[in-house]
Amino acid sequence: MALDHRIAVYTGTFDPIHRGHLDIISRGRVIFDRLIVGVGNNPEKEPYFSLEERVELVRKVVAPYPNVEARGFEGLAVAFVRQLGAGVMLRGLRTTSDMESEFTMSLMNLNMDPEIETVFLMAKEGYSHVSGTLLRPIADHGGPLEKFLPPPVKEALERRVRDRQSRR
Ligand code: ADP
Repeated sequence: MALDHRIAVYTGTFDPIHRGHLDIISRGRVIFDRLIVGVGNNPEKEPYFSLEERVELVRKVVAPYPNVEARGFEGLAVAFVRQLGAGVMLRGLRTTSDMESEFTMSLMNLNMDPEIETVFLMAKEGYSHVSGTLLRPIADHGGPLEKFLPPPVKEALERRVRDRQSRR
């Protein structure tokens, strides 16, 4: 099947989706005709939310954008992108350290599927320090989240932290 380079897939863990991700989505959606947020599984990251929950949260916050949708996937990202008929994988870059790992990953992906191009957007200054890895411990300690998370995601994360703490 020929791939369509006007369709992009923004892949990631999105545990949970935050304003840094949303910034990439809102900028990406004007570049591409269609943008699919591909929510993947990364067992190494021990996610706070299940794949289904993460997809549901993305769905909630991208609802205002008619050309953006959310889907979960298992396995290799390039295989998922091809399965959708998309020719572009969209990624965000926060720091130079992101650049190193993203560079090798994009080369590996290009090697596996030379028809799929990875396109990078630089994080906006105000969001370049925002990551799921930092937000989860802030939530664990009751820190402020509203600057980084849209309201339904903030509520879901606070609820999840309470559940986790009551199970300990
Ligand atoms: P994390 O769990 O670290 O937030 P994800 O795996 O969910 O990261 O990230 C998915 C994609 O979004 C990656 O390309 C990542 O570099 C990018 N990204 C993550 N956070 C931001 C941010 N604050 N600004 C721009 N891009 C981001």
